[in-house]
Amino acid sequence: MPPSSPRATAPFEDRTRLRHDWSIDEASAQLDQPLNDLLFAAQSAHRAYFDPNQVQVSTLLSIKTGACPEDCGYCSQSAQHETGLERERLLPVDEVLESARAAKQDGATRFCMGAAWRNPTDKNLEQVVAMVRGVKALGLETCVTLGMLARHQAKRLRDAGLDYYNHNLDTSPEYYGQVISTRTYQDRLQTLEHVREAGLKTCSGGILGMGESRRDRASMLVQLATLPAHPESVPINLLVQVEGTPLFGTEALDPFELVRTIAAARVMMPGSYVRLSAGRAAMSDELQALCFAAGANSVFCGDRLLTTDNAAAERDQQLFARLGLQPEAVALEGRDQPGACHKSVDQDVAFRDRQHPESFSGLRA
Ligand code: SF4
Repeated sequence: MPPSSPRATAPFEDRTRLRHDWSIDEASAQLDQPLNDLLFAAQSAHRAYFDPNQVQVSTLLSIKTGACPEDCGYCSQSAQHETGLERERLLPVDEVLESARAAKQDGATRFCMGAAWRNPTDKNLEQVVAMVRGVKALGLETCVTLGMLARHQAKRLRDAGLDYYNHNLDTSPEYYGQVISTRTYQDRLQTLEHVREAGLKTCSGGILGMGESRRDRASMLVQLATLPAHPESVPINLLVQVEGTPLFGTEALDPFELVRTIAAARVMMPGSYVRLSAGRAAMSDELQALCFAAGANSVFCGDRLLTTDNAAAERDQQLFARLGLQPEAVALEGRDQPGACHKSVDQDVAFRDRQHPESFSGLRA
């Protein structure tokens, strides 16, 4: 019986090479395929670049909570929404490092720190620089998300040893105005440019279930996949509805749309880590398994994700064991970190940079 999708008959190299010229029609065609064809394409791409049974694990800590002047319609931390969230000052460096040590103990290899700012002041940034240095010294990869970033601030963070900067595009340029009015899509792209130019790795993705259409999801993926370099990390979040936010009460997204979007992200950015992010706490084990089968290979662990619940660590451990997944470890400065790492991030990047993977095997290296 021939495959039902012409995409599935394309030569393997055509389905896995890194492309930066995706159109919205092409991305929509990916999302519109029969699910089995889309999953086949995603798994082919995944296996060309990654060990499909390894999942990168990060922990996210809110280092400054609430009172953000932006009006993101999904966010509990906006000062413009009545969510009852208690605002907190920037955490002291010692407290952050204590959390980082605990995260490492729990198996995290990357420690992400998020602050609810429109943008950091240079004074704020110095405190974050101290945190980055401290976390890095513990042997963890570092990531921060601080809002919009000026060019000199991106360089300052790079010089401090920061690995990743997170700045999401959230949704399509077409739907963006329905969600946020206090900063433009172009502002976001500019921050990504500053991050990229500074030589930092980019973490950028979006949020599903905000009332957007499938074509909006295709358009958002096109924005990410047509950046000069694909983001190294692409978080795909499912809206966590928080009472008091404008998006509270939005019709829930069909979970298969989440699976399809993850699979299309994997096909369009095959060398990137695709992270199953917010919304995981409410997902069944079966839905999460389908997301991993669709190419998700990164998660946040820990009970909290900034201000909302996350999947509990024991539940993750049990799920990983049931699915035969292994947490990916990381090697920094030539030293393997506890957690049985046998591949370094640099090896991963070298592998990912191959334009035409020559073998279709289950393992990358
Ligand atoms: S998502 Fe970030 S920028 Fe937007 S309101 Fe929340 S904390 Fe502020």
